[in-house]
Parts: sequence; structure tokens; C-alpha cells
Amino acid sequence: LLKPKEVRRTPQSLQIIWSDSRLDQIPLAHLRAQCTCAVCREFIQMPPYQEPRFERSRTITSLDLVGNYGLGVMWADSHRSIYAFDRLRALRNDPEREAG
Ligand SMILES: [Zn+2]
Repeated sequence: LLKPKEVRRTPQSLQIIWSDSRLDQIPLAHLRAQCTCAVCREFIQMPPYQEPRFERSRTITSLDLVGNYGLGVMWADSHRSIYAFDRLRALRNDPEREAG
């Protein structure tokens, strides 16, 4: 299983260095739009892909590891997202991102 070796926050993106040394830079608006929690799936209904309108919805307040399988993200609007590592790996090259 590939895991993040290092995770850094910038004002606009999340930078992840993976255990295979790949570096991903994921824009925060994109990351939030890809939240897979039940609330986002049910009410925002992904797809269609929709980036968050509000600054606080694309601002991270804290990051933590969830077990040994995922990354937890706490957003400034009090929403919590959990991204499994394999899901996180796929975000960089998301075809919907390219299309949008
Ligand atoms: Zn969510």
C-alpha cells in the first residue's frame, strides 16, 4: 500500500510526497469537491463535479491520519473529510478536473 511520506499545506493546495517518492499537488478546491462523505454524496451529488464557492470550504484547519488507510481533513467550515490513500492518489489525474 502506498502511503503519504510527507503532507504539506499551502494556502491553495495540499502537497503530498508518497512512499514511492511521487509528488502530488492537489488544489484545495478540487480536494473538497471530491469529498466522498455521505453528506457530500447525498446533497451535493457527485457527479456533477462542483468546486466549493466559499473560502472557508476550501481552507484546511487541520490534518490527521485515519488509521493506516486514510487522511482526515478538517475544513474551516467545520466539515470533515476522509480520503482513503488510494482515492487521494487518484485525485491528481482526475479526468473531471481536466475537463473542467
Ligand atoms: Zn463531505
